[in-house]
Amino acid sequence: MIERSVVVRVHDGLHARPATQFVKLAKSFSCEVEIRCNGRGASATSAVKLMLLGVKENDEATLRAEGEDAADAVSALATFLQTPDAGDIDLTATGKPAAPAVTPACASPDRGVPASEGTAIGPAFAFFPAALDIQPCTVPPEEREAERRRYRQALAGTVQSFRDAKARPGLKRDDAAIIDALVEVAEDAEFIGSVESGIAAGQDAASAVSEAGRTIAASFEALADPYLRARAEDIRSVTRAITLTLLGRRDMTLADMPRGSVIVADEIAALDLAKATLADIGGIVCRKGAATSHVAIMARAHGIPAVLGFSADEARLKAVRTIALDGSTGAVALDPDAAEAERFRGAIAREAAERTALEAYRTVEPTTRDGRRIEIAANLGSLAEIEAAQKAGAMGVGLFRTEFLFMERRTLPGEDEQAETYTTLAQAFAPHPVVIRTLDIGGDKPVAGIDFEHEDNPFLGWRGVRMCLERPDVFKPQLRALLRASIVGNVKILLPMIADVGEVRAVRALLDECRAELDAGGQAHGAFELGVMIETPAAVFVAAEIAREVDFFSVGTNDLTQYVMAADRLNPRVAKLNRTEHPAVLAAIRMAAGAAREAGIWIGVCGEAAARPDLIPFFVENGVTELSMSAASIPRAKKCVTEI
Ligand code: PEP
Ligand code: MG
Repeated sequence: MIERSVVVRVHDGLHARPATQFVKLAKSFSCEVEIRCNGRGASATSAVKLMLLGVKENDEATLRAEGEDAADAVSALATFLQTPDAGDIDLTATGKPAAPAVTPACASPDRGVPASEGTAIGPAFAFFPAALDIQPCTVPPEEREAERRRYRQALAGTVQSFRDAKARPGLKRDDAAIIDALVEVAEDAEFIGSVESGIAAGQDAASAVSEAGRTIAASFEALADPYLRARAEDIRSVTRAITLTLLGRRDMTLADMPRGSVIVADEIAALDLAKATLADIGGIVCRKGAATSHVAIMARAHGIPAVLGFSADEARLKAVRTIALDGSTGAVALDPDAAEAERFRGAIAREAAERTALEAYRTVEPTTRDGRRIEIAANLGSLAEIEAAQKAGAMGVGLFRTEFLFMERRTLPGEDEQAETYTTLAQAFAPHPVVIRTLDIGGDKPVAGIDFEHEDNPFLGWRGVRMCLERPDVFKPQLRALLRASIVGNVKILLPMIADVGEVRAVRALLDECRAELDAGGQAHGAFELGVMIETPAAVFVAAEIAREVDFFSVGTNDLTQYVMAADRLNPRVAKLNRTEHPAVLAAIRMAAGAAREAGIWIGVCGEAAARPDLIPFFVENGVTELSMSAASIPRAKKCVTEI
């Protein structure tokens, strides 16, 4: 039998279209193929079963095949699963007949779009804020300026309420980013412009806002890209919020929802969700929305099972008392009978058991079967994430992105503030190491206090160590802060975007100056290791030379992949080239690892790929001794190492 695990990269997972294509490909082989995911399996020859598996993008799936051409089948199907736009591949070009059309998962009356995995059952909490009934009226010319000001005031008040929601405890960085996006929508020049032209033409503010919002939302809805299409909901939620402020009314809120309830709604805005106590939400079922809706993104981040696009009758949904859902398949049961409820409870118990099985790995310090110890560390962006990382079993921090200390503020953080932050981090994980990366910022992520000129190619521009070396007024306070925090004894300093050994030498010279300045000021400082990110092809080619001057390497697979493949990491059009598993990227990693081995220094991986079960064996085999990733991936990576 041939078996292989891969991380699914197909956009939005194996929904109707890619599932059909996958089955078509599987049927072109004579062997039996099974695909397993989320603890369940299905024959690769049934599109319906495959869809019921609810395989989603970034899920780990295992292919098993038995028969004459098993190796070829597994290889072809694995490639399919790793191809982001696989659903669009036209297999009819191979001369094979087209498969019959398959009913999409959301068309069934008891099924919606699987949006966030997990099973739930609980009392329904109907969340159907009343439609806003706007009575348009004409504003006489002399009052239009005052009406415009009233709108501007309402806009400012609404934006402030968004900011207040963002400051609520329990929200994650991604949630905050979603709310920031809403602020952007509210303050969008086109939106404001069309509201103000409406008012100038005599509309009252509330009508002008609703009409402008409706028009912009409709243009989003007409787009082909599902992610962009889902953004119409943002426009609707912002429009509603501004209109309510203008009318001096408040919406119903999720704040009073009883613990463990399953929210049923027509649509839930990210903002509504941000106002709820997220840990209290048992599940979410909405009539509108898709996997790329913000509510889906937030539900996934908080582990809340969710089914969206569930097309049940609104009156029926409002009347439901108990609701059960499976966020992996999109199945929903309204007022399930005893047997059905039992089935859902059984699934909930099985999921809990699976989580517990992985939990056991939290405290494990993993070694491979031949005795190699691998450190599984966390990637952090702020001190707020320490607790989650520790809970997940992080053996230190493999990447602390200091840029978040610099972003989202009006002035640069001072040396003392930075020293305090780095010391807190080092103490929290001592004696485990904390790898703190110096400021990695560029024209794509501007920072108050640093002037970035316009660049046509910011990813190839003045970023990371390049900018820092030219701005010692920004860089040296950070280096002095790091030297001060090094007293704790476990700090390692990591330099981003290194392309030339001269940059390492220049940083060392600055560090010497910083040490002298701290001595002169009577400030204590400690010893640390200095390492570089391997994320430019140049660093790979001169890795042997750099390795002689540093204590460690950390492979930034996100950037290394984009630079080796010349494929923008943010551009979905070239996503199929932006693959860390591409032989070109693997060759680069092998080369850097070889240089590290030669020089006797350690090498880690801190890009997204560090958490990939299909790549971990490759990293370990090549001498990587540290893998750093988001906290949620840690237990699975530990399990993976122990199986090597
Ligand atoms: C990387 O490039 O892989 C990396 C870890 O850095 P960032 O994602 O912050 O660019
Ligand atoms: Mg990088």
